[in-house]
Parts: sequence; structure tokens; C-alpha cells
Amino acid sequence: MEDRRVVVVTGGSRGIGRAIALKFAEENAHIIIFHYDPDESASSETLNLLKEKGIEAKSFKVDVSDKKAVDSVFEKIFSEYKRVDVLINNAGITKDKLLIRMDENDWDIVLNVNLKGVYNCTHAVLRNMIKQRRGWIVNIASIVGQIGNAGQANYAASKAGIMGFTKSVAKEVAGRGIMVNAVAPGFIDTEMTAKLPDKVKEEFLKQIPIGRLGDPEEVAEVVYWLCSEGASYVTGQVIHVNGGMYM
Ligand code: NAP
Repeated sequence: MEDRRVVVVTGGSRGIGRAIALKFAEENAHIIIFHYDPDESASSETLNLLKEKGIEAKSFKVDVSDKKAVDSVFEKIFSEYKRVDVLINNAGITKDKLLIRMDENDWDIVLNVNLKGVYNCTHAVLRNMIKQRRGWIVNIASIVGQIGNAGQANYAASKAGIMGFTKSVAKEVAGRGIMVNAVAPGFIDTEMTAKLPDKVKEEFLKQIPIGRLGDPEEVAEVVYWLCSEGASYVTGQVIHVNGGMYM
């Protein structure tokens, strides 16, 4: 088998996903990112940053919540690379509202992208990983899935769902050499948190013992470790990366 791992990062165009893709570039992996914004500037920038690191990465515009579209992209990936070694389910969105104002669409879209998207991509790669008898899957959850947050019932439910999904799939495939873990970031400095009002940010900061937001790279380090030999006895875990905000 060729040494270079084949790594798929969903939501790899920006934020935490971009930092994860750049981290995998350090081992000279084949990197494939998924994104969904029709404005391709963020994904092009990620591809350029990867190129600077010597990686000719690929980008697919695909909605992770669309099972047919996901399956068809993975068919292309398998026909070119024959396998996927690492899947990072990172794509995620928010549609924050108090539940009383949250309509069905706000609920469905967040659950479909954040949770069904994880099912769609994992389901698409698992058979191939089982055949190879190796693989690493890391799902990006959130502190909010653990402790809840007013205004984020849809998001919290999706992220708590990811935690249950991770543990169940980890039990199903541990015997096949496939490691399945989740990383639950706290409050990380990306476009997702940039759109929060200053008042909300100040309140969050008061709750972080380390006293600052996290950097996407600090999440990427933990994700990468989970996909390394150093984590060879770690599966079914939710690793919190939150500056002490939840202990
Ligand atoms: P971000 O900067 O908003 O990036 C989100 C990424 O997901 C983008 O690459 C985006 O692609 C992609 N995406 C969105 N909808 C998609 C869809 N339907 N199909 C495919 N890709 C889609 O967010 P982030 O802060 O880096 O967050 C990354 C992950 O970490 C998310 O799962 C988020 O819930 C989780 N998280 C973040 C924080 C935080 O504080 N930032 C904390 C806890 C957990 P486009 O660029 O094409 O739009």
C-alpha cells in the first residue's frame, strides 16, 4: 500500500477544517476538502495554502447533508485514490434562536448538515475502511453538545448526537482496526464565532479559565494526534479542547 494517507476533511475551506487540512499537509498526505459555499474563494485559499506546503489538494463542492451527492463524490475519490484512510467530519453550521422562535427549517437544516452529514460521509467510507482493516474517523462535536446553550437547541442536539454516534460506531468497528473519536471544541476563533455579538463573546470569555479563545490550530493538533500511532489505544472518546471551560 502506498504510504501517503488519503485524508478527507469536510468543511475544509475555512476555520478549524482548514487548520486540520494544513496539519495533515505536514505528513505529506493526499488531502481532499469538501465545502459548500458557491463562493469558492475560501476553498481556493485553502488549496493555495496547501500548495505552499507542497500538497496538490483537491476540493469538492458538496452539501454533506445530501446523501446522493456525498456518495457520488466518494465514488470519484475511490476511483482515483482507491481508499480513504482518514475522515474528518468537520462541516457544521449554526442557526441560533431561542426554541420558542425556532421553526422547523432552522431545526432541520442544522440537524441535516451537522448530524446527518456525519452519517452520510461515515457511511460512504466505512466499507472501504473495513476492507483495508484500518482507518481513522474524527467527528467535530462541540462543548455545547455536552453542556447545552440557550439559543442553540438545534446545534446542541446535533453535537450531542455526534457524541452518541461516535461511541456506537467506535464499538462496531474497533475490531476492524478503525478508530472513531470526537473532538469537542469550546470557543474557537473562527468565522462561526466572529458573528456572535460582543456581549455574548464577553460572557463566554468570563467562563474560560485560560482566559482567551482557542485557535483553530489548537483543535487541529488534537485531531491529528487522534489519527496518529500515539493514540493507538484511544477510540470512542470525546476529547474536549476548550481552555478549561468545561471540565
Ligand atoms: P466555519 O468557519 O463556519 O466553517 C464551516 C465549514 O463547514 C466551512 O468550510 C463550510 O464550507 C463548511 N460547510 C458548511 N455547510 C456545509 C455543507 N452543507 N456541506 C459541506 N460543507 C459545509 O466553522 P468553524 O468554526 O471552523 O467550525 C468547524 C466545526 O467545528 C463545525 O462543525 C463547528 O460546529 C465546530 N465547532 C466550532 C466551534 C467554534 O468555536 N468555532 C466550537 C465548537 C465546535 P464553505 O466555506 O463552503 O461555506
